[in-house]
Amino acid sequence: MEITEKAPAKINLGLNVLGKREDGYHELDMIMTSVDLADRITVREFEQEHVIRLQSNSSFVPLNKKNHAYKAAMVLKKAFGIKKGVEIYIDKKTPVAAGLAGGSSDAAATLRALNQLWQLNLTTPELAKLGEQIGSDVPYCVYGQTARVTGRGEHVRPIENPKKSWVVLVKPSFGVSTPEIFRHVNLATMPHPDIDALERAVVTSDFDALLQNLGNSLEAVTLAKHPLISKIKDRLLASGADGVLMSGSGPTVFALCQHEKKAQRICNSIKGFCDEVYLVRML
Ligand code: ATP
Repeated sequence: MEITEKAPAKINLGLNVLGKREDGYHELDMIMTSVDLADRITVREFEQEHVIRLQSNSSFVPLNKKNHAYKAAMVLKKAFGIKKGVEIYIDKKTPVAAGLAGGSSDAAATLRALNQLWQLNLTTPELAKLGEQIGSDVPYCVYGQTARVTGRGEHVRPIENPKKSWVVLVKPSFGVSTPEIFRHVNLATMPHPDIDALERAVVTSDFDALLQNLGNSLEAVTLAKHPLISKIKDRLLASGADGVLMSGSGPTVFALCQHEKKAQRICNSIKGFCDEVYLVRML
C-alpha cells in the first residue's frame, strides 16, 4: 500500500511575540494560514524491519534522522511500538529555510500518512499533540487550515477564513535560521500587532481591516540583518500589492491581492528583481 499526503506551505498573517518562557521558547500569538504551494509526502511499507528509508528530489533537505519527516516516523514508531520498516519520499516544492514551515509541514503530512498506513486511527488533535515533539509549527501544520495559534505553537484553534486572497510569495536567495532570529528578539523595541483585531478581520472577511492589522514582531529583527527584505516589500507595494508582510522569521515576503489579474501583474514585475516567486492562493 502507498499513501500520499500534501504538505502545504504556511504564512503568518500575524505574529506577536509576547515574551520568553522559562523553558527557553517564546510565547507567541499568531494567525496562520496555508497556501496551495505544497510538498508531497508518499509513504509505503518497506520489507526491512526498523528501517526508515528517506528519499527526495531536493538536495536541500537532510536525508537522515535530522529530517522532520524522519522524526515524525520515529515519534509514531516509538509511541506505538511499531517495528515495521517504511519508505518515505519527499517531493519538495516549498523553498527550504524560508519562513514557510516546509519541514514542519512535511512532518505533519508524514504523521497523517503513517496514521493511515499503519491504521492507527488517531484524531487530528492526537496527531497535533505528537507533532509537538518534532517542532513548534508541526501542530498547526497537522490541522493545515487557518488558525489562531498560541503558546510556542502547541495551542491551535481553527478559525473560519471565508475570503481566500491571492498570495505572491517572494523568496530571497538566502535562508534564515529561526533560532538565530529568536536569539535577537527585543520585546521593548519590536512591534506588537493586534492579533484579536486581525482574527476579527479574517472571520468577518473585512479585507481592509485585515490589511491594517497584518503584522509580524519578527520583521524588525530579520530586516535589520537583511535590508534586501525591505526593498522587496517596497517593490511589492509600489507594484500595487494590497498588503505586504514577511512570513514567520523570514526571509519570504508575501503580498496579498484580492484580484488574480493584479496578483499576476505584481508577480511579473517582481520576477526581474527576485528569482524565486510563486503565485498561489490561500487554501
Ligand atoms: P519555520 O517557518 O517552521 O521556521 P522554515 O520554513 O523557516 O520553517 P524549513 O524549510 O522547515 O524552515 O527548514 C528549516 C531547517 O530544517 C533547514 O535547515 C532544513 O535543513 C531542515 N529540515 C529538516 N527536514 C526538512 C524537510 N523535510 N524540509 C525542509 N527542511 C528540512
